[in-house]
Amino acid sequence: MQSIETDIQILGGGPAGLATGFYAKKRGLDFVLFEAGSEVGGNCRTIRLGDFLFDTGAHRFHDKDPNVTREVKRLLGSELFHVDAPSSIFFEDRFFHFPLTLSDLVEKLDAKTLFKIGWDKLRVERGKPVDDFATFAINRYGKTLAKRFLLNYSEKLWGEPPQKLSVAVSGGRLKGLNLKNLIRSTLVGNAPAQSHLDGSFLYPKYGIGMIPDKLGEFIGYERIHNKSRVSRLVHKAGKIERVILNSGEIEICAHTVINTLPLPLTLKILDPPPPPELIAAASEIKYRHMVLSVFCLNQNSFSPNASLYFPSDAFPFTRLYEPKNRSRYMAPEGQTAIVLELPCSTEDAAWNMSDEALRLEVWDALCRVKPIRREDVIHFLTYRLPFAYPVLTVGFEENVSSLIDYLATFGNMHLTGRSALHRYLHLHDLLRSGQTLVEQIAGLRTPDTTAFHNRRG
Ligand SMILES: Cc1cc2nc3c(=O)[nH]c(=O)nc-3n(C[C@H](O)[C@H](O)[C@H](O)COP(=O)(O)OP(=O)(O)OC[C@H]3O[C@@H](n4cnc5c(N)ncnc54)[C@H](O)[C@@H]3O)c2cc1C
Repeated sequence: MQSIETDIQILGGGPAGLATGFYAKKRGLDFVLFEAGSEVGGNCRTIRLGDFLFDTGAHRFHDKDPNVTREVKRLLGSELFHVDAPSSIFFEDRFFHFPLTLSDLVEKLDAKTLFKIGWDKLRVERGKPVDDFATFAINRYGKTLAKRFLLNYSEKLWGEPPQKLSVAVSGGRLKGLNLKNLIRSTLVGNAPAQSHLDGSFLYPKYGIGMIPDKLGEFIGYERIHNKSRVSRLVHKAGKIERVILNSGEIEICAHTVINTLPLPLTLKILDPPPPPELIAAASEIKYRHMVLSVFCLNQNSFSPNASLYFPSDAFPFTRLYEPKNRSRYMAPEGQTAIVLELPCSTEDAAWNMSDEALRLEVWDALCRVKPIRREDVIHFLTYRLPFAYPVLTVGFEENVSSLIDYLATFGNMHLTGRSALHRYLHLHDLLRSGQTLVEQIAGLRTPDTTAFHNRRG
């Protein structure tokens, strides 16, 4: 057994693992972090392609938790900017404001559709709690708007019909957005829609990856072991005893384990294995993966938007973002890059296609948004992002809780992170969870299982 003797073992070097390491270091705790890849950051990294930078998916840092924002500002200093950039939805060859505004809809939709939207307003059902996203969206926006802008988009993003998706997939995105507010915002200003997540946000000078990079620097790279894949968790008498890395190459004595690995993976690598019914429950848990198609262009700009959304099936991608519209330092002067997001499962063609086939697949659709000259493409890259989103289907909480409750029986293992808890968490959530968890381990806080254990979503 290799002698990496520490009090705490952190598994996974994405934002959740790094956030826990960051607060553990601040508290003077003794820990080590194991990451399977050759770099930390997980699904929240910034990649260099020639002179261009792009993030692994369109990221923003949301100023939602004052303590967390203060820490991130301290870490990044003057390299964290406040950004105001609009977003749009591309539908039937037109760009609609996102969030939707009535004046924009009136300008761009025909009279018949507008009448239907008005008619929906009279029929919108209020107050009834619902489980599925389709009913939720129709109740909020009415059938006409929901069908055009939300339901197709959600099916493309999550790979499940919206009737099967839990309301939790909205992840706060639609907070303050409904048909009533849409009409009110047009008449008396857009105050009610302000709490949505698009539009105004914080962003680092050289990409979102600066946040995990700075967390890693603060932790100190001597505590971070890259290329260390956790392959088994050996347990006995309700305690994780050993962490086995790289298929047995290294064995570590486990004391307090912070686990950020995807939930089904944890169940799979437990040794001895969990009861069969839990293995069956774990196999029901799905994640959405994502392919990114990146085009670096010899043109100054593609659009003024932070993000462009594509609800229609005619486009294989759901979202396009232009890194330069988040920070001008992401592309050289006079040039820009665009990144297309294609959510998929690992069985889908997009995940398995060659880079060239994928480029051909997206090119025509991209040029329908706005023509690009072939000679203006400087670089093209395909980037695959595993475990991008936990798929939250109706009733997912019960299945997930059964697994999390079982794992909670290991007294020395704590779960945190998006895929570990199967929750739609953002960076600020993960930083806050890291802090809470460290305070709990340091004995400064009584265990608060609801912070880490997904009892009811
Ligand atoms: C497209 C997209 C857009 C997003 N936009 C935003 C946004 O605008 N704002 C925001 O706040 N958040 C955003 N997020 C969310 C944010 O990126 C994730 O919440 C975050 O990356 C999750 O961090 P994590 O540490 O829980 O998991 P991950 O980032 O998935 O990290 C898990 C880590 O564990 C490692 N690992 C896996 N298996 C093993 C193993 N066996 N042994 C050792 N290590 C292992 C992986 O290599 C990885 O580094 C977005 C995410 C995506 C995908």
